[in-house]
Amino acid sequence: MRLIQEAKGFLFDLDGVFCQSGKPIPGAIDTLDFLNNNKIPFRFLTNTTQQNRETLTNSLNRIGLVCTDSEIISAGFIGVEYLRKMGSPTCRFFISENLKLDYLEFEENFRNPEVIVIGDYSQWTFNLLNEAFRHVMNGAKIIALHQGKYYKVDSGLRLDAGGFIKALEYVTGKEAYLVGKPKKSFFQHGLNELKLASKEVVMIGDDLINDIKGAQNSGIAGVLVKTGKYHEGMVESSGIIPDGFINSIADLPTILNT
Ligand SMILES: [Mg+2]
Repeated sequence: MRLIQEAKGFLFDLDGVFCQSGKPIPGAIDTLDFLNNNKIPFRFLTNTTQQNRETLTNSLNRIGLVCTDSEIISAGFIGVEYLRKMGSPTCRFFISENLKLDYLEFEENFRNPEVIVIGDYSQWTFNLLNEAFRHVMNGAKIIALHQGKYYKVDSGLRLDAGGFIKALEYVTGKEAYLVGKPKKSFFQHGLNELKLASKEVVMIGDDLINDIKGAQNSGIAGVLVKTGKYHEGMVESSGIIPDGFINSIADLPTILNT
């Protein structure tokens, strides 16, 4: 595929492309080794906020996906930069305990925080959602690390953070500030790190809105991979036209070698 062969660098989605449910996608280890051995520039551009960047890097290395934390641009990590830019407001976090380790520099305020920060969070209850709602009604801004709809685990599909964010937006009439994909500034961060222009980079992912449309909105070609949450019919019903398709990230070395 010319598009991929002519790329000077890549942005990769992680979940559903290189790994799923804590295991590598078949062939992903070899592809990553190929990229490393051939010094092909890439960054993982991931909305994953279950783990902080260091834990995520260690988990990937442990399953054979060899990378450094500087190669991972995660929504959780960029969220820290955004809060710093905001002047380090008081926060109420609805994020995983592990990700919280990256946010220790910010004061958590349970009574009247200036912002609420929402990421992957599996502890939601009515009372917690209601608490978040009250904070927003009292003037707190909503920082959405990402607003994914759902993702795939081995046992099936799993509800993602977006549903909770949209619920809060709906009832409060406020709009969340989005940090991760498909936000343009998030893709720009990837381009800046690669030191490449949008036309020189290809994004490969399994999510039509976050990966494909997000990339295209930033002038980056988006290639849909048919692993992870991909299923037949998802493209036709979406109104989004990927710039290309590959069956699996396992095919990347062959494509680049021909
Ligand atoms: Mg994905």
